[in-house]
Amino acid sequence: MQSPLQILKSVFGYDSFRPLQEEIISHIISRQDALVLMPTGGGKSLCYQIPALVFEGTSVVVSPLISLMKDQVDALNASGIAAAALNSNNTEEENDDIRAHAESKELKILYISPERLQREIPWMQRISIPLFAIDEAHCISQWGHDFRPEYTQLGCLHQKFPAATIMALTATADKLTKEDIINQLGLNSHKVFLSSFDRPNLSLDVKRGYSSQDKIREILSIISRHKGDSGIVYCLSRKNTEKVAEQLRAKGVSAKAYHAGMSSEERNEVQEEFINDKIDVVCATIAFGMGIDKSNVRFVVHYNLPKSIESFYQEIGRAGRDGLPSETVLFYNFQDIVTLRNFVNESGQKEINSEKLDRMQEYAESLICRRRILLNYFGESSNDNCGNCDICRRPPRRFNGTILVQKALSAIKRTNEKIGFTMTAQILKGFSSDEIVQNGYDKIKTFGVGSGTTLKHWHDYLLQMLHLGYIEIAYNEANHLKITDSGNAVLFGKERAELAIPVEKEPEKESRTRVSGKRKATNTRNYNTDYASASDANEELFDVLRRTRKQIADENNWPAYVVLSDRTLKELAATPPLSIDDLHNVYGFGEKKIEKFGQRFVDAVKAYLRR
Ligand code: ADP
Ligand code: ZN
Repeated sequence: MQSPLQILKSVFGYDSFRPLQEEIISHIISRQDALVLMPTGGGKSLCYQIPALVFEGTSVVVSPLISLMKDQVDALNASGIAAAALNSNNTEEENDDIRAHAESKELKILYISPERLQREIPWMQRISIPLFAIDEAHCISQWGHDFRPEYTQLGCLHQKFPAATIMALTATADKLTKEDIINQLGLNSHKVFLSSFDRPNLSLDVKRGYSSQDKIREILSIISRHKGDSGIVYCLSRKNTEKVAEQLRAKGVSAKAYHAGMSSEERNEVQEEFINDKIDVVCATIAFGMGIDKSNVRFVVHYNLPKSIESFYQEIGRAGRDGLPSETVLFYNFQDIVTLRNFVNESGQKEINSEKLDRMQEYAESLICRRRILLNYFGESSNDNCGNCDICRRPPRRFNGTILVQKALSAIKRTNEKIGFTMTAQILKGFSSDEIVQNGYDKIKTFGVGSGTTLKHWHDYLLQMLHLGYIEIAYNEANHLKITDSGNAVLFGKERAELAIPVEKEPEKESRTRVSGKRKATNTRNYNTDYASASDANEELFDVLRRTRKQIADENNWPAYVVLSDRTLKELAATPPLSIDDLHNVYGFGEKKIEKFGQRFVDAVKAYLRR
């Protein structure tokens, strides 16, 4: 019998466990329940896959994501593990076959959806099931952000399968959800494993006050840095997903929209195309990407502010799951706050949601290291600056902005506080729009007093004034701006105002494949600092290897990442293997994969070197 570490090496091709994986696995192997909280990409799957290989019988994975089961099963099969999914996409013969394999104890891992599980229980009670792994376990809780009624039926598992161990896994770590999961599943003598939510390989950037053209330009520049890789653009509205996809296509990017207004077939198709590298960019509303284990997602863009830090973190977590440097950008506009506030006010859980939005807004507005905010939010106190966020890279410089603030406040005052954000900026700039002329605002004294400042900078300053508490938004009065007491103090010269200089375009030369020395030395949670060498990879050889991978994937009808991850290919390109033996220490190249297609990669390398 192999130890968990041996299995990790021989089956999955990895050298060491990530934080907590080993503890979780040994806890499960000793047959005790567990709740595992780990960020997306943290490595939850191995925590049940390895025990399943150690146990006798068939371990069951409950997952809501039927469309992804095939990929997970393919990935396990590619590594030589007997896994299958019971679902309605199979023929009845196929499902019978799967059942027979489980009955004869050959099948190690069985994927099933919660609704299907309900029907299969009588049959399942007759086979040997050592473990139930409940994936996306937050779906059981109304507090979570993705409640699914089918999940509540899982509460009966312990009673129906007294011999089975139950483990719940999720990337949502807030306290109420956590307690709800434990109670509803009735976890016994359980332990909670909370892993670090740090994902140091994801860069964090917030760009505020960008117009939609600016956003598209910025997205195109991100795409150009990641040719041949994939990315996701999250938008608030369906309309925007369509619009952004359209604009990207017009620039030659293969992009598609994904939203709840599409039929489930259409959505599955987009998802499949994305997983199989047939389209590079998906512009999606929040529903997209749950459970996708696609290693070459190199960027995630939020076209609008998300509604909570939980959703934000889960969404950016879809980038860089292989640990390689990946970019995340959050665009943040005044209009987003207005739209989201309106959603919140109409939502059922107004207080909770409003609180969550406040935290999100504070994150976007903050002038301290963004990663520190995130980690503190998830309860990991963090005192180091990360070196990989916009604030760390370009600490904001400030200036005495009293006069600018006074100009803006007096414009607001002279319209009797009856204008919103955009119009304030236009009046300051001296912009005679129809609306401004109709209201006679082009006659007021402050009209055009700020013409020396760009409209974009005015937007930025007004946002800062909002965050500094000089103005507030009257949501119940057509979002007009109102001057607060501290605003009046500045307006009447009693206090001075410090503003940050708006950040212009990114310095072009800046290295994006960061990992600053400081962080490397001080951050012990950083499990992926070893990738610097992989980034030296020979690009040409990398492309050759990608083609080889694509051929193998197509022959097997798999997505490319099921064959090998980008990170593995990069290692191969950096240290080209000349024989099968050279493959044994390559990240992610397990024994079964070496046996199945190791030679193909060695041959590709040799042919490349002979050219
Ligand atoms: P999630 O927590 O989101 O379910 P996954 O289980 O899909 O994350 O893991 C994310 C990626 O990390 C996968 O590609 C997986 O193979 C890889 N991974 C997991 N554990 C390790 C490890 N110990 N060493 C190297 N890679 C790992
Ligand atoms: Zn930082």
